[in-house]
This record gives sequence, structure tokens and C-alpha cells, in this order.
Amino acid sequence: MATSLPIVLKAPRRGTPATHFADLDADGRKASMKEIGLPAFRADQIARHYYGRFEADPMEMTDLPENARQKVKEALFPTLLTPVKHISCDDGETRKTLWKAADGTLLESVLMKYPGRATLCISSQAGCGMACPFCATGQGGLQRNLSTAEIVDQVREAAATMEAEGSRLTNIVFMGMGEPLANYNRVLAAVRRITEPAPNGFGISMRNVTVSTVGFAPNIRRLADEGLSVTLAVSLHTPDDELRDELVPINNRFEVSEVLDAARYYADKTGRRVSIEYALIRDINDHDWRADLLGKKLHKALGSRVHVNLIPLNPTPGSKWDASPKKQQDEFVRRVIAQGVPCTVRDTRGNEIAAACGQLAAEGE
Ligand code: SAH
Repeated sequence: MATSLPIVLKAPRRGTPATHFADLDADGRKASMKEIGLPAFRADQIARHYYGRFEADPMEMTDLPENARQKVKEALFPTLLTPVKHISCDDGETRKTLWKAADGTLLESVLMKYPGRATLCISSQAGCGMACPFCATGQGGLQRNLSTAEIVDQVREAAATMEAEGSRLTNIVFMGMGEPLANYNRVLAAVRRITEPAPNGFGISMRNVTVSTVGFAPNIRRLADEGLSVTLAVSLHTPDDELRDELVPINNRFEVSEVLDAARYYADKTGRRVSIEYALIRDINDHDWRADLLGKKLHKALGSRVHVNLIPLNPTPGSKWDASPKKQQDEFVRRVIAQGVPCTVRDTRGNEIAAACGQLAAEGE
């Protein structure tokens, strides 16, 4: 009789993370129990530990029979991410973690604590293939997609950290390394695990989960059709194609009008306001006329279902570009608002530890 290797025991190829409990949906978890000779109900029990208590070590799951713990650990809890270092700033309110995956790949996540909420900025890929010239991650190219579990486990660790401090992780932004919509299926599965209530997920409110994209138009539409209500953020950075072709090279494939049409489709389908990211760069995209054009285009495409988030550029090492002077930034905000589009400036955390937007590029150990 031909025997097929159970999926959970497949040896990982280099670069392909081993299957982990957090990769599996409810059916997959039950099937995996069968494969290791445990009754299906154990799947929910383990899920309650992982998603409800943020416990990832089966040896600590003391309501499992002792002889099952080791088996579960070996089959379903391979070590995925090991923290290489934690660096804090902003009086300990911002913490960047450098992670090493089992194949040596490096990636980062950033935890930001505010009064009454805590936001984790997570990576969806190691590196990024989008090559935006102002972004540190974009300079190094794409190493590989992260697996669903590698994405989910960044969240679990931060949730455990917050719980240990008597608090809670409330918000997730896919604004770390990588382009989430270029790793669509794994990111979508991760979003489900992050938002579904325990035992299927961490139960973080959909509205508090933001997926940020360079403007991968077809996948924005696909995401709109999934029946989720996560917040969509589109990194526009300029309203005209000529400059956007340079700042966000994927614009050569999906131009501004296509991206805004897809954003409108997202807003229509989900009823959610779309967030537009705009890194303000001195003398590059901070002109008065661009602010006017941005406001006009957004108002036309999205009406009142849009909000602009200005991010003062965080200059990356060796970059000739800089943030706009405060006066020009204020004028930009004023002009966008004058077109009927709400516009605010993002508070930039983590500057001094290279944990601010676009600075995430693992430099090594
Ligand atoms: N690939 C996704 C997530 C990237 S990071 C995306 O492009 O949306 C999240 C945001 O930080 C994006 O809007 C990105 O353009 C922005 N960003 C990148 N580098 C930056 C920098 N040096 N200064 C300010 N914002 C930057």
C-alpha cells in the first residue's frame, strides 16, 4: 500500500518553513490530530492555548496527556521564529524585534504602545520585490514569502508580551517588510487567524487590522470580495502617473486611475473608508499643485470614503531625499482638506531605532 507522508511531517525544503499549527484552519487542525493518532477534540484544546492564551509550547499545555505533548510539539510546533534582538525606544513604548526564521531568513516587527491601545506592525515577506526607491526594505529585494504561521506567530508573541504587562494587543498593521497582496493566500489566511474569535483566532477586531498595499489593483478587488472588513491602506505617494512610475514602480503595471478604481470597489463592497498613504518628500511630491490634484482625484474617486495619512519621509541611509519642511507639510494638509478630503500627519514612532515606516531592513545580527 502506498503511504503518503502526512502533511505535518513533510521535511522542509530550504526556504520553505515547516508546516506549523498556525498554518492550519479548523479542518486542517483536526486532520493533523488524526495523522498523529490523537482524537480530533485535541485540536480545539491546543487552539485555545495558542490563540486564547498565546502559548506556543505544547510542553506547557498541561491538559494534554503527557505522552501527547512531545508528539504535538514535534509534528506541529517546529521552531519558526527566534528573536535575535529586541530594541526599544520612546521610553520603552516602541519595541522592534529582529526575527530569524528556521532557514536563517531575517525579518522584523514593531510593537507600539499608546494609551488605551497597542499596535503591531508585521512583516508579510522577508524583503520586498516592489523596489520603491525611498523604502529601505525595497532596496534589498525579495528573499521569500513568509508562511501564514510566520505571520501569525509575530502576532502571538506580541499578544503574549502585552498580556504579560496586563494589557492587550489591539491593532495590527501589515506595514512591516513586504507587499502583503503579493503573498495573497498566506496573508489572507493570516488575517482570518488574527481576526476570528478563539479557538480559531486571536479575535482582534477586523476594523483594527490594516492591510497596506502598493496598489496591486486586481488583488485589492479580490480582497474586497472576501467578505472581510479589514482596513485597506493604499500607498499612493503622488496623484500623477509620471512621478508614481518612479516612486512606486508597480505603477507601470497598475496606474493611478486603476488603483483608485480598485480602492473605490473596496470601499463600495466593504463600506469601509480607504486610507491613502503619502510619504511626503521635500521637492519631490510635496508641491501645492500635487496636494490640489490629490484632493481632487480622491474626492472624485472615493467621495467621503477616504482619508489621507501623510508620513513625513524617514530618510534611509544614503538617500538624497528628505522630509518636507513643516511649513510645506502644513500647506499640503490644508490644500487636501480644502478639496473635502480628511488628511492627517502620521506620528512617527521608532525613528531612532530604525523602526519607522520604510526603515525595516534587517541589517543582520
Ligand atoms: N508594501 C506595503 C507595506 C509597506 S510599509 C505598502 O507599500 O503599502 C508601509 C508604508 O510605509 C507604505 O506606505 C510605504 O510606502 C511607507 N514607507 C516606506 N518607506 C518609507 C520611508 N522611508 N518614509 C516614510 N514612509 C515610508
